[in-house]
Amino acid sequence: MLVHIDQDKCCGAGHCVLAAPEVFDQRDEDGIVVLLDARPPAELQQAVREAADVCPAAAIRLEMV
Ligand code: SF4
Repeated sequence: MLVHIDQDKCCGAGHCVLAAPEVFDQRDEDGIVVLLDARPPAELQQAVREAADVCPAAAIRLEMV
């Protein structure tokens, strides 16, 4: 799995961080998403899918590689 984020779409809602804090973080100054791990290990991939599903801005795209 390869994770892509679009910081221009992100509205800083933070749902992704709640779902998968090992993979997503938010910038201190404005809450915009920061990607911590673009290739999460297998045990985190379900949480990453949930993060993409709950993102209200569709700012997380998952590529299965
Ligand atoms: S859930 Fe989506 S909009 Fe919210 S911080 Fe994460 S990427 Fe940004």
